[in-house]
Amino acid sequence: MDISLEVLQSDITRLEVDAVVNAANSSLYGGGGVDGAIHRAAGPELLEECRNIRRNSLPEGLPTGEAVLTSGYNLKARYVIHTVGPVWQGGSAEEEQLLRNAYLNCLKIAREHDAIESIAFPGISTGVYGYPLCEAVEIVSELLKEYRTSYSSPSRISICCYSSMDYQAYLASGIFTI
Ligand code: ADP
Repeated sequence: MDISLEVLQSDITRLEVDAVVNAANSSLYGGGGVDGAIHRAAGPELLEECRNIRRNSLPEGLPTGEAVLTSGYNLKARYVIHTVGPVWQGGSAEEEQLLRNAYLNCLKIAREHDAIESIAFPGISTGVYGYPLCEAVEIVSELLKEYRTSYSSPSRISICCYSSMDYQAYLASGIFTI
């Protein structure tokens, strides 16, 4: 079965999917934007689990482009996959590769957990981290198109946009269903 690729406009904390992706920062201690929203909606146990991960396996923090799994606690989503996107520095600091790594490492975690059949991503790095929207949309849509030719899991991948401008940009790429 082909993976279904969807774009939707919503608050990611309200989605009924198996896993939501958090555009975290390397501290894993929460922050603004989607990170703050996910921590608020999941409740304090999420921060506690993140602190334990830092203590036990990531004393230096989560490197850019990598990903880590936690429970979703009070979210409808059973899991949160935290990743750190690149800060946009003009395009010559390997931002594209790091953005690709962030998406691909989240998908790898999803693939390795049978309980994760549906996953929703926010627009990693396209908020405070400043990645230009059009370039991010192109990278993400190409990456997912390619991913679908190699893998069949997770079976549903959604890009969850907060703003209608973001939603329209992903929709215009032509690879997503609504
Ligand atoms: P980054 O630091 O990786 O740029 P941000 O949280 O600043 O992360 O922004 C990433 C994207 O998440 C932006 O497109 C922003 O509009 C969006 N966003 C913010 N809050 C939410 C939310 N509750 N649900 C979905 N997307 C959100």
